Amino acid sequence: MIDGIFRFAPSPNGRLHLGHAFSALLNADFARRFGGRFLLRIEDLDPLRSRPDFVAAIEADLTWLGLQFETPVMRQSRRLDLYRHGIDALERRGITYPCFCSRGMVAADVAARELASARPWPRDPDGAPLYPRNCRALTSIEIAERLAAGMPHVWRLNLDAALAAAPGPYRFTTFERNCESRLHIAEPSRWGDVVIGRRDVAASYHLAVVMDDESQGITHVVRGADLLAATDIHVLLQMLFGYRTPQYHHHDLVRDESGDKLAKSRGSRSLADMRASGCSASEIRARLGFP
Ligand code: GLU
Repeated sequence: MIDGIFRFAPSPNGRLHLGHAFSALLNADFARRFGGRFLLRIEDLDPLRSRPDFVAAIEADLTWLGLQFETPVMRQSRRLDLYRHGIDALERRGITYPCFCSRGMVAADVAARELASARPWPRDPDGAPLYPRNCRALTSIEIAERLAAGMPHVWRLNLDAALAAAPGPYRFTTFERNCESRLHIAEPSRWGDVVIGRRDVAASYHLAVVMDDESQGITHVVRGADLLAATDIHVLLQMLFGYRTPQYHHHDLVRDESGDKLAKSRGSRSLADMRASGCSASEIRARLGFP
């Protein structure tokens, strides 16, 4: 028996589908088997896409599935000051810098570079072009002027400064359902100068998730395989902040009949729809392989 703390951390920008149900049930199952705690965290960082009715629906869906989570539930939208302090601390150490380039500017710059070199520009694991680091070259006077003028900006990690401040090895351990574990080498450099603070809110997903896992004392992160690569940057941030790295389990994604992963954006059937059409919680649990 280990004293694990697990969390299910959905973003309230749509109704939960079978993929979320699997992730939540798996977290709760690990917590039960490991004699640990199961927490819910609402990742409502995005003010435009998050909706209070989706938050209420998440809690109702989980309760319907038979899952009990501790209260009060952590909500990222209430922690923006804390994230701001995290970015300030990195800024004082010269590890982050403001970037005034819009997405369109980066795309145009990268296209021009690809044309000039006749070679593809390197991409991050999500397929986005690595930031060409233009704003790294700004002088402190230029930065101060732009900030004073209220120019919109994001905060980016200065990867070289970050790697120097937290020299490797960058490692994390994954665990399986049969309790086997495996050591992974993380490669944070493949993310380049990643965004850690957004234009509209203080934090990016990467920063918030790392600070929240630390605040909640999460020992085991169980989440979809689509976030495996992001763990590389999470490990680097944990080392920069002096946090402990949790263990990870990245589960296969639930797919639809045509093999596509379920997604709110693709209109995948929600748990609420399934419930409305007469499906019971125990049928859903059984379908996903849980007693
Ligand atoms: N909020 C993320 C999502 O809904 C999950 C983040 C995580 O588990 O690290 O995909």
